[in-house]
Amino acid sequence: MNKLIITVAPTGSLPTKEMTPHVPITPEEIIETGIRCESAGASVIHVHARNPRDGSASSQFAIFEEICHGLREKTNLIIQISTGGRAGTAYEQRCERLRLKPEMASLTTGSVNFPNSVYENSPELIKALARDMFELGIKPEIEVFDLGMINNGILLAREGLLIPPLHFDFVMGLKGAIPAGIDHLVHLKNSIPPDATWTVAGVGPAQLPMNLHAVMMGGHVRVGLEDNIYYVKGQLATNEALVKRMVRLSGEVGREVATPDEAREILHLTK
Ligand code: ZN
Repeated sequence: MNKLIITVAPTGSLPTKEMTPHVPITPEEIIETGIRCESAGASVIHVHARNPRDGSASSQFAIFEEICHGLREKTNLIIQISTGGRAGTAYEQRCERLRLKPEMASLTTGSVNFPNSVYENSPELIKALARDMFELGIKPEIEVFDLGMINNGILLAREGLLIPPLHFDFVMGLKGAIPAGIDHLVHLKNSIPPDATWTVAGVGPAQLPMNLHAVMMGGHVRVGLEDNIYYVKGQLATNEALVKRMVRLSGEVGREVATPDEAREILHLTK
């Protein structure tokens, strides 16, 4: 079977130090987490920025720059910048960070209701972000919260804004989005182009079971405190421990983990 790509999403927009002391907030903490997770077996890091002052989600270019600079200097990880909108929904606030030319960036190809807010991605915004990534040579990870978002990704490829083979991330188990379940996962997998690659990010208690399904189905996995702060119920996790667990469990069933360079080949990235 193909090797397993482990993406770590260490920070996200929501977990606070009050919720878990293990969430890295400052650039220094995020870089340090990246180093530890790379040694543990991760090959991709999904990056969000926070205001070091109060921990809130940030769209400040300088913070993204510091994180990317440190990760490039100290790791071989594939950097995947989030273009998510929790720190500001306007295109200008979400595209500037792409100038850092990470190898990958997230691209959500539709809108979805989060529990207390609308994650709004208008057709114009999606196209503008896709065009920026195309021009800067950044591979989008198409974030799928619902089936229609796969279709939108395929349509963007037909328009020439995304270059196949496409890469999808199925975000499952978030209230308001697609429920976490193997039946839904099979359907999502069967709905993407045959040459596409895919990762699954299960939210909360869905992280581990959805990751295990992906291991067996030939997909890839995303772990990390952005999606889930617990190792088991009632016991807080560290990012590193979540990566290590996937390496161990995947190894137990004979699926080896990809190094960052092997992940670049699988994802058709040109470094
Ligand atoms: Zn994210």
